[in-house]
Amino acid sequence: GNYTREEILQMVEEEDVEFIRLQFTDMFGAIKNIAVTARELPRALDNRCMINGEQIAGMDMEKGSDLYLSPILDTFAILPWRPQQGKVARMICDLYCPDGTPYKNSPRYILERVAKEAEQEGYTCYIDPECEFFLFHTDDNGMPTTVTHEKAGYLDMSPLDLGENARRDMVLTLEDMGMEVESSHHEAAPAQHEIDFSYGEVRDIADCIMTFKMAVRIVAKRHGLHATFMPKPKTEANGSGMHIQFSLIKNGENVFECADRPGELSEDAYYFIGGLLAHSKEMALITNPLVNSYKRLVPGYDAPTELTWTENNQNSLVRIPVTRGEGIRVELRSPDASANPYVVLAVCLAAGLDGIKNKITPTKSSNLATQDQQAEHLPETLKEAIDYFESSSWVKEVLGEEFCRQYVAAKKNEWLRYTRQVTDWEIAEYLYRL
Ligand code: GLN
Ligand code: MG
Ligand code: MG
Ligand code: MG
Repeated sequence: GNYTREEILQMVEEEDVEFIRLQFTDMFGAIKNIAVTARELPRALDNRCMINGEQIAGMDMEKGSDLYLSPILDTFAILPWRPQQGKVARMICDLYCPDGTPYKNSPRYILERVAKEAEQEGYTCYIDPECEFFLFHTDDNGMPTTVTHEKAGYLDMSPLDLGENARRDMVLTLEDMGMEVESSHHEAAPAQHEIDFSYGEVRDIADCIMTFKMAVRIVAKRHGLHATFMPKPKTEANGSGMHIQFSLIKNGENVFECADRPGELSEDAYYFIGGLLAHSKEMALITNPLVNSYKRLVPGYDAPTELTWTENNQNSLVRIPVTRGEGIRVELRSPDASANPYVVLAVCLAAGLDGIKNKITPTKSSNLATQDQQAEHLPETLKEAIDYFESSSWVKEVLGEEFCRQYVAAKKNEWLRYTRQVTDWEIAEYLYRL
């Protein structure tokens, strides 16, 4: 990291970079870019390259839609999958309005705002995400399918694991781009994989997740496979999640570790968990944004359904991995990788901090099944998630009214289109006997 403008211009010269892709992310987590030639780079670095937001999801504005791109120097990376003569580099950008103010609906800006609020309280947030995905075959026309010949399961190796070469290539590509990959493995479902990268500051990790999803898709394609982050591509198999592990650092110490009783969670850790649980329903539309997201959040597939927290149960919403001491972390298990990582990390961090601020105590729930009390549930459909989201004033505070308005409108439209479909299930269920 830590490039100066001069260093970037020099790298572009020395590495024979011909194009620089100026990237940003739309409201729903799609990566967008314009490419400038190396000659135009100084202009781009002066924040003078512009995009028209009109056609970009979540960027339709009342007063004009021209936005300036402001490339972040430290995100400079050469794209290893592009030609090695006349190379292509990318820079992730912030968005500015023509009057020079930050564009407030930009997902990256929303995360920046929450991270800065945390810093004002003395906290730096570190994140360790675990992204799962499937590798499927494409058909004769190159279209993605849900077909796989693979039968491997959790942590299986070759010859059962047919994805090892693609996964190896993905890891090496990410490392080439400056990301640190911690480990990778075959996941529980056939053709399902996971790559875990090293823990980092929340804003950097959001950028990394975007880079990760792009690289995984591109490398898979080179191997003749289709990589998908769709939360639940197969009815009868585990879906793909994006567990997020959090820790908060204050004055160089992990505040989740109890200072007096090493090995135990601190009070702030409990409050952080309390905040995550308390806000999980209203932020579900962000963490689990698709109709399909809710097909993953069902019992029996290692995905959470109830608002519980435990030390070891795979079905609970929040889990505390066994590592203690400096490495103590809180894992939120509901998010899926179809979501916009900037906005997901923004709401989750805001939720945890709200827990600390308002001393929200989570009710201990390791063994709810054996108790009489009934745990609360995550929303079971996109519609339920929309309702919780819409009636939450807290969400509007965190994300901004305007962002929420556009987001909800799009999600309502998605739900409407979905419910008006006559599905294969209905045909199979009713046509024959009615
Ligand atoms: N795939 C599971 C999910 O949907 C998680 C499995 C795991 O990593 N324990 O969240
Ligand atoms: Mg996993
Ligand atoms: Mg990791
Ligand atoms: Mg996990």
